[in-house]
Amino acid sequence: MLNVDLHCHSTVSDGTLSPAELAARARANGVDIWALTDHDELGGIAEAREAANDLGLRFVAGVEISITWAGKTVHIVGLDIDEQHPDLRDGLASVRGGRSSRGREMAAQLQAAGIAGAFEGAMRHADNPELLGRTHFARFLVEAGVCRTVSEVFQNYLVEGKPGFVPHRWATLEQSVRWIRSAGGRAVIAHPGRYPFDDMQLGALIDQFRSLGGEGIEVVTGSHEPHQFDEYATLARRQGLLASRGSDFHGPAESRADLGSLPHLPAGLTPVWHDWTA
Ligand code: AMP
Ligand code: MN
Ligand code: MN
Ligand code: MN
Repeated sequence: MLNVDLHCHSTVSDGTLSPAELAARARANGVDIWALTDHDELGGIAEAREAANDLGLRFVAGVEISITWAGKTVHIVGLDIDEQHPDLRDGLASVRGGRSSRGREMAAQLQAAGIAGAFEGAMRHADNPELLGRTHFARFLVEAGVCRTVSEVFQNYLVEGKPGFVPHRWATLEQSVRWIRSAGGRAVIAHPGRYPFDDMQLGALIDQFRSLGGEGIEVVTGSHEPHQFDEYATLARRQGLLASRGSDFHGPAESRADLGSLPHLPAGLTPVWHDWTA
C-alpha cells in the first residue's frame, strides 16, 4: 500500500523545517506521494518540488486555505493545484493581507494581560512576514517562559475566550473552493474533527462544500485523535467523499505525527489520490 502524506507545513507558513528539509524527511520516512500544504501561501512549492524530484519522491502541489464559515475558522486543503494560477495567487494574497493587523491586535491583548513585546517576538519566529500566525505567537510565549509548550499555549491563550484571541474574517468557503478548482486542484475539508460544530452544522458545511464542487475530507490526520479515524471514515463513506491522509506535520519538536507515520486509510474508502496516474 502506498504511503501518502498530503498535509504538512514548512517555514514558509508555520512549520519549522524548510521545504527541502521536509522533502528529505518525507523520503527518509518512506513516503511515496507527498504534498506541501502551507497556510494561505504557495511560496514553498518550487523548492519542495525540486527537492522531491531530486529524491525521486512523487510531489503534489498543495495549500491549506483559511476560511470563515458560520463564524468559525475552517481549513480547506487544495491538492494538485497549479501554483501559478492567477485566481488562486490573488485570492491567497488577499487572505494573507489581514494577518499583520490581526497580529498587532493579538499583541495588544497580550500586552493588556501583562505580556510585552509579543508582536516583535512572534515576528522573530515568522520566516515569512506575510504569514504571521498564532503558532509564531505560541513559540514566542514558550520562549518568554509564559508557557512550557506550544500546546499549553493553545489551552490558555490565543483561542476563543482567552487572551490573545482576535476573531478574524478569512476567505469564504465559496472562494476557497473556486480558487482551488480554477487552479485545477481538488478541494478537501481539513481535519473535520477539530471544528466546534455539531453533526447538523458539519453536515451543512459538507452539503455546501459539495454543491460548490468540493470532493474530499481528511480522515487520517495528525490533527485527529486516533479514535476519530474510523468516525470520519464512516462519514466519508456515507457522504461519498474522497478520503485524504496527512500528518499535518509542523516540526519535530511540536508535532504528534511525523511525516508518513500515521495508519493507512481504513478500508472501503476512495482515496483522494485514486486517479492520480503513476
Ligand atoms: P492561524 O492560522 O494564525 O490562526 O494559526 C492556526 C495554527 O495554529 C494551526 O494551523 C496550528 O498550526 C496552530 N494551532 C491551532 N490550534 C492548536 C493547538 N490546539 N495546538 C497546537 N497548534 C495549534
Ligand atoms: Mn499551522
Ligand atoms: Mn489546519
Ligand atoms: Mn495544517
